Formats: sequence, C-alpha cells, structure tokens
Amino acid sequence: MGRNIREIVVGLGAAFLVFLFLSGLNPTPFLLGGGALVALYLLAGEKTRGGFALLDQAVDGPALSNVTFAEIGGQETAKRELMEALEFLRAPEEVEALGIRPLKGILLTGPPGTGKTMLAKAAANYTDSIFVAASGSEFIEVYAGVGAQRVRQLFTRARNLAKREGRRSAIIFIDELEVLGGKRGQHTSHLEYDQTLNQLLVEMDGLRREEGISLLVIGATNRPDLLDPALLRPGRFDRQVHVDLPDKEARLKILAIHTRRKPLAPDVDLEAVARATFGFSGAHLESLANEAAIIAYRRGRREIQMADLEEAIEKVMLGERLTRRPSAEELLRVAVHESGHALVSENLVPQSVAAVSVTSRGRALGLVRRVEGEERYLHTRRSFLDQIAICLAGALAEELVYGERSSGAAEDFRQAAALAREMIVHGLSELGIATEETVGRVELRRAVRDVLRQEEERTRAILAADKERLMRTARLLAEKERLEGEELRQLLASLRINHPPRIKC
Ligand code: ADP
Ligand code: MG
Ligand code: ZN
Repeated sequence: MGRNIREIVVGLGAAFLVFLFLSGLNPTPFLLGGGALVALYLLAGEKTRGGFALLDQAVDGPALSNVTFAEIGGQETAKRELMEALEFLRAPEEVEALGIRPLKGILLTGPPGTGKTMLAKAAANYTDSIFVAASGSEFIEVYAGVGAQRVRQLFTRARNLAKREGRRSAIIFIDELEVLGGKRGQHTSHLEYDQTLNQLLVEMDGLRREEGISLLVIGATNRPDLLDPALLRPGRFDRQVHVDLPDKEARLKILAIHTRRKPLAPDVDLEAVARATFGFSGAHLESLANEAAIIAYRRGRREIQMADLEEAIEKVMLGERLTRRPSAEELLRVAVHESGHALVSENLVPQSVAAVSVTSRGRALGLVRRVEGEERYLHTRRSFLDQIAICLAGALAEELVYGERSSGAAEDFRQAAALAREMIVHGLSELGIATEETVGRVELRRAVRDVLRQEEERTRAILAADKERLMRTARLLAEKERLEGEELRQLLASLRINHPPRIKC
C-alpha cells in the first residue's frame, strides 16, 4: 500500500518535471525545493521510527503474546490454577465492585523447561494483556542503583505500552526470580541485590489500577526455597502455581503438539516414545521431536520413522545427561514409598494430598504434594504428630513391602526429627515447656527420639492394616507416574473394605 502511494508520487513528480521541461521553464528550483522536502520527510520518518525502535528495544521480546494455553501440553492443574487467578484481570470492574484486593503477583515454580515462560505468555494472551519480560540476572549490575532503576523502568514501560496499545492490562514476567529476589543480607559483596529486591517490593506494594490499566507480575523460579520470604507475603506473590515435570500422559500430549506439523511414518508409536522418556521436560520433548526430524532428513526420508525418534531419545538423553528410565522394579519401589506418604496423609488428614508423583527429577524419590491449607498455621500437638507420621510413612511402606528400607529417605527422617524438635520446644510434648536451656540437650534429644519411635509404631500399624490399598495405589502410580489428589481419593474410596484403623496417640 505505502509502496503504491510512493510509486504514484514519484510518477507524478517525474511527469511534472517533464511537463516543466517541455513548457520551456527551468526545473532547477523545483528540483531543489522538492529535494529538500523529500530530505525533510525522510529525516522526520527516521526520527519517529528511531524513537519507537528505542522503546521496542527496551522490551524483551514482543509486547504481545500469541502463545495460547492450547499449545501447552499437560500441566492441567497449573493451567487451571493460573486461569482461575487470571479471572480478575478479565473482569477488573467486578472484582473492584466486590472490594476484592486485586491479585498482584503469581509465582510459577518448577524445574526448567516445563513451560513456565509459555504459561506466562499464554496468560498474557488469555487476558489480552501487554507482555513484558525480564530475567532476574538482567537486574544485577556492579553499579549500585542500576538494578533498582531497571525495576522501576520495567513497571513504567509495562504501563506505557498498555496505554499505547490500548490494553487494559499488562503482565510483567520476571524469569529467574531467585537471582533478583534471593534472601536479603546473603550477598556479602554488595548491597545491590538488596536494593533491587527492595525496589521490586516497593513497586508491587504500589500496584493499583490506574487509568483503567491493571498490572500483574508473574515470577518464575526453579528454586522457590531461595526466595526472600518478603516476596511471598500477601499482596505480593501470594499465589503459587507449581509446574511439575510431565507424566506419561502429559508427555504424550506434548509430543503430539510438537509433531503436529511433522510427517510421521505409520510405524511411529508416540505412546511408546512417551513411555520411554521418563524424566523429560517439555523442552526436552520439543528438542526430541526436532532431532528426530533432523535425523530423518539426513537419512533422506520424507517421513519421521520410529527408529529416528528412538535415536533422538538417546541423543537428547546424552546431551542433557538425563538418566535412563528406571526399571519397572525400581519405579514400583519409588511408587511404594510415595504411596506410603500419600496413604498415611489421607488417612490422618483427609483431602490433604494435592498430587503424588514418581517423576520428580533431582531427587532420589518422587514427591507427594500436600494441599497447603490452614492447618499449616495450626501448630497443635496432633498436627505435629500427623506430619511426623506422614514423613516416616515412605520408608516404612518400603519396609513393609520389601522387608527393608532404601537409602532414599534421609531427607524424610531429617524433616521428621525437625518437626519433633519443634513440637517439643513449643511445649507440646509431655515435657511441657522444654527447650535446650530448660531441660538440657541430652534430654531434648531423648524426647525427640521418643516421639519419633512412637510415631514410627503408629505409622507402621496404619500401613500394615492397609497394605492392600497401599499396593494397589503403588501399582497404579507406577503405571501412570502421577495421581492427582482426587484420583487418589477415588481409588482409595473404591477399595475401602473396612474403616481405617483408629490408633490412639
Ligand atoms: P520454562 O520457562 O519452564 O523453563 P519454557 O516455557 O521456556 O520452560 O519452555 C521451553 C520450551 O519447551 C517451549 O518453548 C516449548 O517448546 C517446550 N515446552 C515446555 N513445556 C511444554 C509444554 N507443557 N507443552 C508444550 N511444549 C512445552
Ligand atoms: Mg523459561
Ligand atoms: Zn519420602
């Protein structure tokens, strides 16, 4: 379009010059004047374009996102939780009318390559928001104050872009949040980190809907344990969404997404590929699909065959130092351990398991995620003892089924001992108020041991009376790699023959 107009203008100009020439007039002044006008026009154009370039350059990636939730395979829980949290951005007036404090921050936690960045982008798309991204490491400079200034700029930029693009909201995505938001006072070299984090807290505290524009901060980290607790306080990142490594079913979905536009030979069995890629993240699977296509291309094929995919699995595993899928026996053992935690958790605190999985990487064992509810703050004797029992249940389930424990439960025991100690120093044991100062270190240690021994007995009895359900849960878990809390409860309910034992403690 622009080109056509330019051609017409040039054409008319040329015709005008020819006309002047033919009519015997001197075209020089017209040429000069016209040339000056063109130069001015070009300069002005350069200037405005230069101005925008500066603005755009400052933005990391495009200001709008075209990633949708449909392109993210698996992660159903994370997607649902995130979409629920986003409702307030889609209906800010309703939220305000009800006097609800708008959500300011959502924290995405989980291993690398599981789709956290994708989720944040999809969130922007879903809410029709401006998307502005930065990474924690970009804020860390040797010069004091630079990081804090960048944080300020990031928020201003998000607002300005939303205004310019006529959006009602902007999402600020901060990747590697632990770099910027690590615990304060831990960096010995300088105070730069602290200043930057403080500035982020100030910006988040000051967030409100202005000129009809809402701002939401989405942070991502694979080390939530490193975050300064101040970041997790209400009014800051007060919603956490966990993103786990995909289970078998989710891997199949992700593979389907990333092979959608690739020609697959009839012998390809994506289900088998999903089974063989235990421990792979979404990013690994994307790279696997790409590698398979490259291998097929090198072999002069027009379709990707199963052999290409198999070779690609090996290649990705080698490149990423991924461990081979555990054998069926190993996997069942992990499943028994995790099912032990989950079963005792449901027995003692119904509805307490959010999910149980055997796919957690970077740990010897799997993971039971518990619903974080009120009971976290209710430090009763009972809740302490239940937590301890749940901690011990993994190793005790292994002991019950295999006759011996494995080495993988050291962290569980450490946690159980820490809980017992906390309970005792809170004055919730028979010793009454018992701290190291009042009863002495030896006495305290003995008390911890007594609590652990007593809970060990109780947990052992619960598991022994429920071995059937333990095994059935473990087998299903080993097969599916992950069970949502609801799935687990349905299974347990369907297998309930008699009531679980009530053991006094
Ligand atoms: P993270 O931010 O958690 O490290 P990303 O969102 O950056 O992960 O994902 C990196 C790439 O891996 C994506 O661009 C995508 O190709 C692929 N990927 C990761 N998770 C998924 C998923 N759940 N579904 C589809 N693709 C995924
Ligand atoms: Mg990322
Ligand atoms: Zn455990």
